[in-house]
Amino acid sequence: MNSITEIPPRLSRVIERLITGVATSDGAGVKLTRVLTGKLQQRLDPFLMLDAFGSDNPDDYIAGFPDHPHRGFETVTYMLSGRMRHRDSAGHEGLLESGGVQWMTAGRGVIHSELPEQQDGVMEGFQLWLNLPAERKMCEPWYRDFPDAALPEYVTGGGVTVRVIAGSSNGVAGAVSRERTEPLYLDVHLPAGATFSTALAKTHNAFIYVYRGAVQVGDTQVEAGRMGILSNTGDGVTMTTSVAARLILIAGKPLNQPIVQHGPFVMNTQQEIHQALDDFNNGRFA
Ligand code: FE
Repeated sequence: MNSITEIPPRLSRVIERLITGVATSDGAGVKLTRVLTGKLQQRLDPFLMLDAFGSDNPDDYIAGFPDHPHRGFETVTYMLSGRMRHRDSAGHEGLLESGGVQWMTAGRGVIHSELPEQQDGVMEGFQLWLNLPAERKMCEPWYRDFPDAALPEYVTGGGVTVRVIAGSSNGVAGAVSRERTEPLYLDVHLPAGATFSTALAKTHNAFIYVYRGAVQVGDTQVEAGRMGILSNTGDGVTMTTSVAARLILIAGKPLNQPIVQHGPFVMNTQQEIHQALDDFNNGRFA
């Protein structure tokens, strides 16, 4: 793989706020950390949720997420380590394995299950919820698996490896693009002593979540297990590290539309939530 030369921003965004996730459990008892909670949905529009999971204790993950519905947004699951089987009512099925991404557009509604296909070992990864614009909330469900080897990746001259899950970074286009929300989703691996820069559209809300080591953005150190919300001033971000570090960097164009969430349904009005519940209870999901 050829190394690429980064274009540093004229002005790097800084860390506006550090967030510690909240320990919770979901599905049939999967232990996870909710990093992006409901309180941050306006600030980080178009993102609705980010969960980080990671455990080598099967009791924390083995029950998985049996059949449950979604409507009105997209779910993006990135598996760092582990195996999980997806099945949904739109007829899609896939096995998500280490290094792979599953992108599901729930649209007007799917019922799906996400169940571990491992008895032991480490399961680690992230699930991000990306909102759909009002006019796309009732679109046809869509689903795709991107195995490890199918994800575009680049290495900088400084030895930083970047996996481009969505959007584009330093001229490298990712696996997925979305017109309205223009999501950028990078997994960045920095060796000790490295610097990394990427451009960010000025209009886009952005954050990082560090999952190994620590990085420095401006004057702020972001440790593993912390989310750093990036300020909206600047045309990109530059980060440095003295230790080996890994993080995800996520950015997107805000929708600026009302967000009404009821569990796994995210719509624009209370009326649409009532409709979602009625449709689900009467078997009108796909
Ligand atoms: Fe789900």
